[in-house]
Amino acid sequence: MDKEILYLIEKLESEKTLTLREYERLISGRDEESAKILAEKAVNVRKQIYGNSVFVRGLIEFSNICKNDCLYCGIRRSNLNCDRYRLTTDEILECCADGYSLGFRTFVLQSGEDGYFTDGILCEIIEKIKSKYPDCAVTLSLGEKSRESYQRLFDAGADRYLLRHETADSEHYKSLHPPEMSFEHRMKCLSDLREIGYQVGCGFMVGSPHQTAKHLAKDLKFVEEFKPDMCGIGPFVPHKDTPFGKMTGGTAELTCYLLSIIRLIRPNILLPSTTALGTIDPLGREKGILAGANVVMPNLSPVSVRKKYELYDNKICTGEESAQCRSCLDMRMSSIGYEIVTDRGDIKKENENGCL
Ligand code: SAH
Repeated sequence: MDKEILYLIEKLESEKTLTLREYERLISGRDEESAKILAEKAVNVRKQIYGNSVFVRGLIEFSNICKNDCLYCGIRRSNLNCDRYRLTTDEILECCADGYSLGFRTFVLQSGEDGYFTDGILCEIIEKIKSKYPDCAVTLSLGEKSRESYQRLFDAGADRYLLRHETADSEHYKSLHPPEMSFEHRMKCLSDLREIGYQVGCGFMVGSPHQTAKHLAKDLKFVEEFKPDMCGIGPFVPHKDTPFGKMTGGTAELTCYLLSIIRLIRPNILLPSTTALGTIDPLGREKGILAGANVVMPNLSPVSVRKKYELYDNKICTGEESAQCRSCLDMRMSSIGYEIVTDRGDIKKENENGCL
């Protein structure tokens, strides 16, 4: 391994910051050995804060109807092969009931940008979940909205919001999205969410089309500066019915490397080992945890709709019942010495001295 890379890893560990150039160098100069050292350090830091606990989130994909046309996404509006669905409020509540009995204490409501779900309808769903399960957190992942809408959903009881920034480079953002979407608006949404008081998650795809180490360095700098509570990163996986259908996907190797770096940048961050990572590698989710992740997000959606929420090809866990997914993940985590806990899984905050 290059001496400079070792120096950068040690610097990152002690200072939790690198320059853009240094991040770029750390990424492009990586090898097996540097990945191993980074992962060891990341796991160490993570263990000091979260022990061997892994937090679990129940993901409810309640609508795949979307007004957007993101070039990478399988549920983009131009995809006429996508079989569209919406869950009813009662169906969503049933998912929560199943999830609650399986030990889930966070429900993540995710969907395309579906205009049917007005603020009023969403608030009612959130209020019902929170009154039935006051010990649970509700996380939303509904895309871009006005500040007023975010505020209403927060006032209805939503605790967290996931909105991946997708890329921190505005030119790269343009190459992944149609002209009517903008990087500035995405960033505005993230700052609105933060100001309102949500626990906020950003994130990006690894190996998305046209992505370079320079772009990834900017993503890391953004994570460093924005200080999100959560960061969702997973490999880009092509979907056949999108303009990027024939592009190369991201790798588990680079995804894990970046998970380790992010853990060192923000030791207490909630970092999922994603389904996309489990899709491109049969042991992807285990590898993610062993690189420094501490969250898994299995699916709680009814099995009848799971295949239809296809953001990318060959998505895993679309045939199993929620209970099967839960026990499968329990086994996977215990096989590597970790344990899924029944807990809301909030971020462990630093005190004013910067200590945990
Ligand atoms: N509509 C919501 C939720 C979108 S889907 C929103 O805009 O936030 C959640 C995430 O899936 C996206 O943010 C994107 O990063 C990821 N995703 C979409 N298509 C993908 C693909 N082909 N491969 C990997 N991840 C993808």
